[in-house]
Order: sequence, then structure tokens, then C-alpha cells
Amino acid sequence: MKKSNLDRRDFIKINSALGLGAATLLSTNPLQAINIFNAKHQQPAILGGQPAMASDWPSWPMWNPETDEKRLLEVMRSGVWSRKNVTIEFENKWAATVGSKRCLAVVNGTNAMNASLANLEVGWGDEVIVTPYSFIASISCVLFNGAIPVFVDIDPDTFQMDATKIEEKITKRTKAIMPVHILGLPCDMDPIMNIAKKHNLVVVEDACQGWLAEYNHQKVGTFGDAGCFSFQNSKNLPIGEGGAIVSDNDAFMDRCYSYHNYGMPYGSMKVEGSSGAVMAGNKLRITEYQAAIGLAQLERLEDQTSKRSENAEYLKSKIATVPGITPYKLYEKVTRASFHLFPFRYNKEAFKGLPRHKFLAAMRAEGIPCSAGYFPLNKMPYLKNAFESKNYKLFYSKKDLNYADYEERNQCPINDVICGEEAIWIPQYVLLGSMSDMNNIYNAIQKIYDNAALLNK
Ligand SMILES: *Cc1c(COP(=O)(O)O)cnc(C)c1O
Repeated sequence: MKKSNLDRRDFIKINSALGLGAATLLSTNPLQAINIFNAKHQQPAILGGQPAMASDWPSWPMWNPETDEKRLLEVMRSGVWSRKNVTIEFENKWAATVGSKRCLAVVNGTNAMNASLANLEVGWGDEVIVTPYSFIASISCVLFNGAIPVFVDIDPDTFQMDATKIEEKITKRTKAIMPVHILGLPCDMDPIMNIAKKHNLVVVEDACQGWLAEYNHQKVGTFGDAGCFSFQNSKNLPIGEGGAIVSDNDAFMDRCYSYHNYGMPYGSMKVEGSSGAVMAGNKLRITEYQAAIGLAQLERLEDQTSKRSENAEYLKSKIATVPGITPYKLYEKVTRASFHLFPFRYNKEAFKGLPRHKFLAAMRAEGIPCSAGYFPLNKMPYLKNAFESKNYKLFYSKKDLNYADYEERNQCPINDVICGEEAIWIPQYVLLGSMSDMNNIYNAIQKIYDNAALLNK
């Protein structure tokens, strides 16, 4: 809009859009009005300016009745709702997608991990190497099976378990390592698998945020003895609830199958000449309608994963130019990330001391969904609660269960800083927006940076 084109009517429009009164209108010339208009764009939304992102983000989960409902309706109308052919089809597809020999669908990611550890006989008396930067289910599965979690601090650049700090935590009791490909950014699997091989340890991968993510062109979840996935509603492959175990080990997968089906015989678990349950099992089966939803969602996963990657790379390059903003790094051998979350680190010193919670509030006012992410898993009350339980007291010595000592041994100072001060997440569905949406995120951050002093008043 040029000065000469700005007639009185436009002038009034701008002024009323800005919420300015007639008095301002009369005392302001058109050129000043343009400046005010620009200033209003530059003013943080939390202080009354225009939000950097005015339109909506893609909604989640996605569902297209035309393409997604045919299989689901077939299932519903068939009356075959309990585990059968559609579930098998989903399992075969997921196994092929990640490049694993076998897949077993289960009720959720939490129980995929519980069952994997149980059927690899990781439990009472064992120590399991874990990360403090994850969702609670990554540790509760260890306690659920009676083992003791041993925390390894994280690599602040990647947010993953720091592979260089694993070996110092290995003892005679160490039985397993549980790498979590947290946020959808793969762990450094080569060193982790080498350490596991050297010390003869079981590896169970928590790939509950790692659908289609790759390290050295191999899908995460296929490096260890078992890989566990989640299909919960917020996840990149959403079914509402659901999970899966993948592995190439037939004996282990037969065992998991029996376990997930009341302990009924399956494959190599069959006992000749006897009938009925062959083990103390559980019931973890998914339904046919969940599998039908999963098959529909699987159709969009590849394209969405590419889109998230492209947007993440672009957004990363943009925001890395803002002082005090440090986006995630990927390990050299990572060939694809799934970006369940887009993470970056925030240094408040570069933002005139503006604390993270105020930065987050300002970002949300700009229309950018974001959060501070996880709390440290090595510092929550559930650990002490397990140590004080009847069975832990029966099995472990007083020395083992001295909680003050345990806390001391399991400190993760880098993770404390990441969780407590620096981490910022943008959720996966935001990365399904357009390139101009990504520019809006950058604009929001830049605007907050430019106005940091004002925002910290
Ligand atoms: C979601 C999630 C789980 C648990 O999966 P559910 O399906 O919710 O039980 C475990 N680990 C991580 C890292 C997750 O994000």
C-alpha cells in the first residue's frame, strides 16, 4: 500500500482494525498510520499485537471418511471384532514397513515394553540402563518387571541417552539397555549395539515415537532384541490406543504371542500332548476395528513423515539464526527422523533474562503451540514408591534400596538443565503446515527476541 493510494476509507479501516479511536485518526497522517500498522505487527501478541500465526494448524488425528471408512465399516458389519485377519494384515504391513520379520500388535506401547522385557526375562535382580528424558512408560516397564532402572545422562545436542556414558554404569547385574528414540530422533545405535554385544546385554528399543525413523538406512525398532511402538492418539500413527512389538526372533515372538493371549499355546510354545495355557500370560490383544483404523492411518504415514522432515529442516535453518536458540542435532548416521516433536534449546540470557515460561506464553499468544516438555524421570516419586513396595523389599537388600544412595548414583545434571530450563517442543502436527507457517514460527521467535526486554518487565 503506497502513501498516495491510502485514501481516507483505508485509513479508517486500518485504524479500526488497530482499535484506535477517532481522535487518533484525526491527529494521525496516513504515513504514520502505516508505521503504526507495521509496529502492530512487530508488537508481541501477548502485549496486544497481531499474532504471527493467525490461521489454524492442521488438526490431529486426521480422518477422511471417503478413504478411511470402508475397511472399518466392513469390520463393524461383519461382527468379527476380536483379533483376526485384519489384525494379521496390519501386523504384516507394519513388519514389512519397518523391515522386521515379525510384528505383534498389542493394546498400547506401555504393554509392548512390559511384555518385551518380561519375555526376554529381564526382571528381578537385574539392572536396566535407561534415559531420564522420556515418557514415564519407558521406566515403569522396568519396575513393573521387578528390575532396577539405572539412569544415563543425555546428550544435550540430541536429547538422547549419551552412548559415551553407558559403559561406566554397567555392573555385574546389568541385563539390558533400553534406548528410547525420544522425540522421534534416533539414538546413536552403533555405539549402543557395540556396548550391548561386548557386555552380552539385551536391547529393547522404545520406538514409541520413532515410526519410520532410520539410522544408517535401517528403521529404528529393528536394531535390538525387540522394538516397541505406540499408536496412541497423539502419536504420528494414531489409532486411539494401540502398540506393537517387532523382532526377527521367532522363539521370542511366539512367546510374546502366547503371553498376549492368556498364555495360550502358539507356534514353538505348543506343548505336545497337553492342552491349555503354557505360561502365565496376559491379555493384550487389539481389536479388528483398531487394526482397520491402523491400516487407514498407515496410508498417510510415509508422506507425512517426509513433510515433517522437510519442514523441520527448514524451520531449523531459520530459527538457528536467532541468538539463544539452538535447534536439535541428529547423529551423523541418522538417515531419517520421525519428529514426533520438534525440539530446540532456549537460552534465556540471549533473551534479556526472559524465563522460559514467559517465552512459551508469548509463543502461544503468537499462535504457536509449544511446551517445555518432560520432567526428569530420575526425580519422580514413583521410584521411591517401588523401592518401598513389599516385593522389592523381599527381593532386594536394604543397601540396594537405600534411596538416598540410589538418587545420588542416578543424578543426570545435563538432563536437569534441559528439562528445567532449556527444552522447548513444538508438536508434530505443526510440522504438517506450509512453508509459510514455518516462517510464521520463525517470525514469532524473532519478534519475541526483539521485544525480550519489554516482555520481561
Ligand atoms: C507414548 C509413549 C509410550 C507409551 O505408549 P502408550 O501407547 O501410550 O502406552 C512409551 N514410550 C514413549 C517414548 C512414548 O512416547
